[in-house]
Amino acid sequence: DAPGQRPVVGQRDSSARAYHRRLPLTLVSARGATVRDADGREYIDCLAGAGALALGHHHPVVDQALREALDAGAPLSTLDLSTPYRDRFIDQLFSVLPAPLQDGRILFCGPSGADAVEAAIKLAKTATGRSGVLAFGGGYHGMTQGTLALTGRRSAKEPLGALLPEIHHLPFPTAYRTPLRAHGPASAPGGPGGQAVSGATTSAELAGSLVRWALCDDHSGIAAPAAVIAEPVQGEGGVHPMPPAFATTLRSTTTEAGAVLVADEVQTGLGRTGTLWASERIGFDPDILVLSKAVGGGLPLAVIVHRGELDAWQPGAHAGTFRGSTLALAAGAATIREVARAGLAQRAGELGRRLSDGLRAAVGDDPRVGDIRGPGLMVGVEVVDPETADGYGVPRPDGALAAAVQRTMLENGVIVEAGGPEDAVVRFLPPLIVSEEQIDRVVDTFATALSAARP
Ligand code: PMP
Repeated sequence: DAPGQRPVVGQRDSSARAYHRRLPLTLVSARGATVRDADGREYIDCLAGAGALALGHHHPVVDQALREALDAGAPLSTLDLSTPYRDRFIDQLFSVLPAPLQDGRILFCGPSGADAVEAAIKLAKTATGRSGVLAFGGGYHGMTQGTLALTGRRSAKEPLGALLPEIHHLPFPTAYRTPLRAHGPASAPGGPGGQAVSGATTSAELAGSLVRWALCDDHSGIAAPAAVIAEPVQGEGGVHPMPPAFATTLRSTTTEAGAVLVADEVQTGLGRTGTLWASERIGFDPDILVLSKAVGGGLPLAVIVHRGELDAWQPGAHAGTFRGSTLALAAGAATIREVARAGLAQRAGELGRRLSDGLRAAVGDDPRVGDIRGPGLMVGVEVVDPETADGYGVPRPDGALAAAVQRTMLENGVIVEAGGPEDAVVRFLPPLIVSEEQIDRVVDTFATALSAARP
């Protein structure tokens, strides 16, 4: 379509059905934390490319980096050959990596997060000579056959039959709707649907015990795996932060079992959760860090950074054509520099508190709001049907309500995502440069949409 002409991309009948069209929108321009549709309506973008746009749309430093690369006649695609853009990206990324990975190695993996997860698992297999992987319920690592095998959502995998062999899932220590509690009749002491775990025993400790059993107990029957993979905050699974106690257990038991610990920070990386790396704050301390989304400045880029001793591949053992295009490297380097320079991780923490506290104040008492959670600007509100109870002793997720809220929010100028069980978690992932005033409008719009959905 010529510029200015009303585009119809996304509404064409030729799009495969796999594109869900919950949001009937054609977006034509964007700036900062807002996007504009073909009718000139403006929306606050709490999707931000599923978290890829840390600096929002057209941040001046990113636009300038892209223009400079184009004006300089930079080579656009060089496979693994060195360019100043690639070198600058590497320097910039290493200047902000967690200390234990500062003398690690970087591998460019392809355009998508799933590419990088695939590379991490392949590398762990080569380095250990083993083949299994331990992953977690509710985890999300991508949609390729290998990464889907690691993903902890049964309904996404069932139609495909066998994916990767030897993948084992254990419960993630969620605080809400947790399987890690004793179950009994509805009348049992400790609350409806079962007894809460007693005393000081928390879901983090129980999940840690299961990991220890799976990895270190001969009688678990599970062959020692090549890798253990987890997100420091589960994103697509419904915004579940990993408790620090569980991160510590993961680290020690993975070492004991001789496996490789992989942190999937595709969504959490580069400041979103209030610290530059979500794994750093909770003591996750991975052997391989998987990064994509924000580190490409909104353009496709994915890397793994691994400890030096895992450098197990011979040259050519892992290849791919699009492993760091110049424009993505330029945008990524500029984004990393700006996030660090402007203290945007800390700002994400502050604005995230404003968002979470605002939501709690506005709708926390509504019985249809089951839980409000998440660190920094990675926030989820799980909406429920208060008249019901699931097998875990809490009201069932209400995906229809979440969809209604999402639709009304769109009509009122805010784009949000839905995920988690039954897609009943309304997810907020605005760019880190979102303003306080925009955050307040997001809160108001959510509250309005929820009350409009009153039956
Ligand atoms: N890991 C995590 C934690 C993610 O959130 C995602 C994408 N939402 C992926 C992996 C897969 O990334 P991509 O969609 O770029 O393949």
